[in-house]
Amino acid sequence: MSFTDLGLQPELLISVADKGYDTPTPIQKAAIPAVLAGRDVLAGAQTGTGKTAGFVLPILQRLRAATGRAPRALVLAPTRELAAQVAENARDYGRYLNLRTVVVFGGVGINPQVDALRRGCDLLVATPGRLLDLAGQRAVDLGAVEVFVLDEADRMLDMGFIHDIRRVLKLLPAVRQNLMFSATYSDDIRTLAARFLHDPVAIEVATRNATAERVDQCAYRLPKEHKRHLLAHLVKAEGWPQALVFTRTKHGANRLAQQLERAGIATAAIHGNKSQAARTRALADFKQGRITALVATEVAARGLDIKELPVVVNYELPNVPEDYVHRIGRTARAGLNGRAVSLVAPDEASLLRDIERLLRQPIPVVALPEFEVLAEPERGSGHARHDAPRGGHTPHGGQRHPGSQQRRSGGRQRHRGAGRNARGR
Ligand code: AMP
Repeated sequence: MSFTDLGLQPELLISVADKGYDTPTPIQKAAIPAVLAGRDVLAGAQTGTGKTAGFVLPILQRLRAATGRAPRALVLAPTRELAAQVAENARDYGRYLNLRTVVVFGGVGINPQVDALRRGCDLLVATPGRLLDLAGQRAVDLGAVEVFVLDEADRMLDMGFIHDIRRVLKLLPAVRQNLMFSATYSDDIRTLAARFLHDPVAIEVATRNATAERVDQCAYRLPKEHKRHLLAHLVKAEGWPQALVFTRTKHGANRLAQQLERAGIATAAIHGNKSQAARTRALADFKQGRITALVATEVAARGLDIKELPVVVNYELPNVPEDYVHRIGRTARAGLNGRAVSLVAPDEASLLRDIERLLRQPIPVVALPEFEVLAEPERGSGHARHDAPRGGHTPHGGQRHPGSQQRRSGGRQRHRGAGRNARGR
């Protein structure tokens, strides 16, 4: 399918070709015809899916001739960066059309924005607070808005914009077309969608996007130094066919890959310090099932075209909660049930809370299974290293278990799962 098949007008097809895009992305295939048909749309899509063109292109077409007065399309975005990006896209795609795009956001002087609006505006891109300020000053009239877009609605709610959104909605004409984009679905998002979307076309794109609900998520709480032993145990005991494992650092990715290899699990690491050839090889090996575990840093994993992974492991939780959603979005695609397993050390507890807040749902903490903590010779020296636990520190936070007393260098220690389903909060 090409952009021509989507019903876009020649001026837009040329600007799309200028950009070098030949094939519409899945969100574009679904959204463009729906928006052109005047339907409301609820789309589960995050940045990177091509969602911006998915709504900007058909909106530009619907606006057609410029009136150059009050905005007839309004896009609300959570941040100034996103607003600026949407506006830039609109100007790019609309370069052969005679439409005016204006962007307004807070943190900069309001007067140039007032002037820009006075000069005329067809498509307005705005962050909520500044838009309300401008509306309050009567610098903008939202009474002519025909199409309203709420972009990254989940982030809007996270940032506390719900009241501002409601106030903006009150300034819009009752009859209009509404589009809402969100990377995640929570009850609050559903409530908001039900409030202003009318019989929406629901679009769920299968790339780089997963609603947290389709993924079977769980977390294990344990000390950092036990993580690799638990991971090796899970891969083997649960017979994971393949797992993409996220670490925070390149060094950590290398080390873990070596440790998993030593535990008998075919593993490769992929990160920015690896040559392109090494990365390509690792990816090919992984795709063809020659390796079971692919250990990757966030950045390296971002560009990987791997679909429908059965298991994603957060060996370390990401610092940015949204990255968790992106990571687990690599599993459970196309209606398959995927798993996302997080290994959470005590110092990552607050990161887990942030993620749960973003998802608006708890991630079940499951009891640790019984697994072996093997001591290994220290690299370079022939000495056995006491790995963990030290000083009676146990996987359950201070609760001594028999193994820690009996352990010797080079020996093995059986970690006994406590068999309780503790949330541990
Ligand atoms: P977005 O999800 O809207 O932030 O877009 C992600 C990136 O994909 C942007 O850099 C777009 O320029 C690019 N993009 C959008 N549509 C296409 C397409 N059909 N083909 C290739 N790249 C695209």
